[in-house]
Amino acid sequence: MVKIKTLEEIELMRESALIVSKTLGMLAKEVKPGVTTLHLDKLAEEFIRDHGAYPGFLGMYDFPNSLCMSPNAQVVHGIPNDKPLQDGDIISIDCGSYKNGFYGDHAYTFEVGEVDEATKKLLKVTKESLYKGIEQFKKGNRIGDIGYAIQKHTEDHGYGVVRELVGHGLGRDMHEDPQVANYGKRNTGKKIIEGMVIAIEPMINMGTHRINQLKDGWTILTLDNKPSAHFEHDIAIVNGKPELLSTFKYVNEALGIVTNEEDAFRKKPFVM
Ligand code: MG
Ligand code: MG
Repeated sequence: MVKIKTLEEIELMRESALIVSKTLGMLAKEVKPGVTTLHLDKLAEEFIRDHGAYPGFLGMYDFPNSLCMSPNAQVVHGIPNDKPLQDGDIISIDCGSYKNGFYGDHAYTFEVGEVDEATKKLLKVTKESLYKGIEQFKKGNRIGDIGYAIQKHTEDHGYGVVRELVGHGLGRDMHEDPQVANYGKRNTGKKIIEGMVIAIEPMINMGTHRINQLKDGWTILTLDNKPSAHFEHDIAIVNGKPELLSTFKYVNEALGIVTNEEDAFRKKPFVM
């Protein structure tokens, strides 16, 4: 059952989401060759706690850390370790926070040093597909419209859309109804209604959409060992339209990226 949120609850959720956004912005400055994912995990945990929140993933389903850190061919749910990142890697960082009874859940795939052009393009197209999905999250549409838009954009580039893992409703629980697949058919699935809050999170592979899981019981990786990208935002339906609760502004600022891709999904200019 979909749990609809009041405007007051949506404001609390925005606070949780923005703590994650700020955490990703802080990490953007720290991601570089030689740094370990375990070190980044410790920085994030401290940062989240300093902002009066609890790391949303820590202990959830017995996950051992605060961040899911998935380099290169890892899709999602990678466990931080003491292996240094290398020049040319990509690293998907998924981060959760819990504050005032609500979760934030939001992810970004970073380049480590100099990344090759084909991988840069995978990241660009995956991020574009996230916004194409968000565009479809509006009153009157159905959840399948989101997956259709993401699948169309990424498959047009020859990429594989992971089937087994999906976006989700978000709120007092990290994973609520509805499931939000990154593939699908137009005009299918649950109706999108006022007060719905979801996390949209395309997981897009450079090659096959097929995946494997490591023996650790967590790490998901591509079957062909080609890279995979993951971007995630938290979005609410307010006045029938999608409103972003999370933002990549802090990441963009840290990386010197100038873009207006989020502007269409805000009722007012973003204040840092
Ligand atoms: Mg996430
Ligand atoms: Mg999620």
